[in-house]
Amino acid sequence: MKNKNINKIENYCKGCEAWCCYDGVYLKEDDELRIRDVVENNKEFFAFLPKDYIVYGKWENLMEGKKTNTKSKKYKNPNYPKHFNQTTCVFCVNNKCMLQEFAIKNGESGWKYKPKTCCSFPLQKREEKYYEPSAVDDYCNIGKKYPGYVSFLPCYKLKKEDLKSEFEYTKNS
Ligand code: SF4
Ligand code: SF4
Repeated sequence: MKNKNINKIENYCKGCEAWCCYDGVYLKEDDELRIRDVVENNKEFFAFLPKDYIVYGKWENLMEGKKTNTKSKKYKNPNYPKHFNQTTCVFCVNNKCMLQEFAIKNGESGWKYKPKTCCSFPLQKREEKYYEPSAVDDYCNIGKKYPGYVSFLPCYKLKKEDLKSEFEYTKNS
């Protein structure tokens, strides 16, 4: 029987300007190697990238390390959070992740090259366990200056049953 869950995350992503990608993503250890490898071996496809597509970043006292770089982007949706920058990950083109597009184009799993955090997103990890976003605190909420990240995204209210493939990914990764 067809999955009739209209709250599936894909349905949300289709109408979204990829808000979650606005600041790029902090990378896990093996993400960088995997990404550099696919980019360097497929220069034609990834010709849109700047040379420094991976940079060092730091955000408040919460995140620090290698991350994907960002580029400027004008968001059209008037509900786009005011405290988010008008930027996007350098891998995002027309609201699509080109690491995912490259894998799909080659008949591979869309998750093959993407950073792990992006594959399990919007699940939130706390002490080795994953949760649907609204089940835990938005740890990026640092007050007025920046009142949160995941809690401002269109997919925030999705329930466990809407995020089956993301939970599945966390079990196998
Ligand atoms: S913010 Fe949520 S709905 Fe929008 S693209 Fe990202 S995961 Fe999909
Ligand atoms: S790697 Fe892909 S999914 Fe992750 S932030 Fe960049 S464009 Fe978005």
